[in-house]
Amino acid sequence: MPETLLKVEKLKKVYESSTGSVEAIGDISFEMRRGELVCIVGPSGCGKTTLLKCIAGLLAPTSGVIELDGQPVTSPPPNMALVFQEYGRSLYPWLTVRGNVELPLKHKKLSKQERAQLVDDALLAVGLDHAGNSYPWQLSGGMQQRVAIARAVAYQPEVLIMDEPFAAVDAQTRADLEDLVRQLHRDRGMSLLFVTHDIDESVYLGERVIVLSKSPTWVQEDLPIDLAPERDQITTRALPRFTELRTHVYEQIQRAKRGEAVRPTA
Ligand code: ADP
Ligand code: MG
Repeated sequence: MPETLLKVEKLKKVYESSTGSVEAIGDISFEMRRGELVCIVGPSGCGKTTLLKCIAGLLAPTSGVIELDGQPVTSPPPNMALVFQEYGRSLYPWLTVRGNVELPLKHKKLSKQERAQLVDDALLAVGLDHAGNSYPWQLSGGMQQRVAIARAVAYQPEVLIMDEPFAAVDAQTRADLEDLVRQLHRDRGMSLLFVTHDIDESVYLGERVIVLSKSPTWVQEDLPIDLAPERDQITTRALPRFTELRTHVYEQIQRAKRGEAVRPTA
């Protein structure tokens, strides 16, 4: 299998509407290897969600190419799963937790038993093995987000894309969910593309952090995160290197917001 999983080349996206056009993405190029955990940060409105929608085949680029496994993405790829910020709305209230997690598996050729096993494993992985028969509305926000993650995990995607998935949960839950993401990456070898506006989160989670400029967007920096793969909330965040990296990303974002960074000419 080729080492490059995802390739984004000269991606441009202009939204056209009756009130005019918005150039959300100017020119974004980057690559992601199989099994990598890449975080994307950038100022609000810089086109992060637009980028993910293009990668997920939900939105057609104005120009440029997106390739997954060497194939151009023109519709939602079967080996990709998405977790959005508004997880509450992505769960079906009339289905139990199990029912929600199982639903996408019905499109796969699996026996009933295999499906049940995948659901069990996924619920266990997110610490919800006791809540299978509950309904989403009986759960806290953090637990609902775990259901959304379990659904993506049970589906066993090659690549998992997350768009500011923890923006609406409390700090403790957020820390737990961050560790869950690290664990999924490490134990299951899942490739993860994680969008956040939280700088500390991007450094804590990522093996690489891609900093986007403000619109029309380009890649302002592609920063390797040279922290050890074994991370934990207390010791990792207390490392001098963690502080250096977060300060660096913070400064880049400030420059991005002010539009100070000068785009290199190709
Ligand atoms: P981010 O996720 O980084 O906050 P978005 O991708 O949501 O940014 O939006 C990037 C830009 O594109 C913003 O200026 C936003 O207003 C605009 N935009 C997003 N979606 C649409 C749309 N459907 N139609 C027109 N403009 C849009
Ligand atoms: Mg967004």
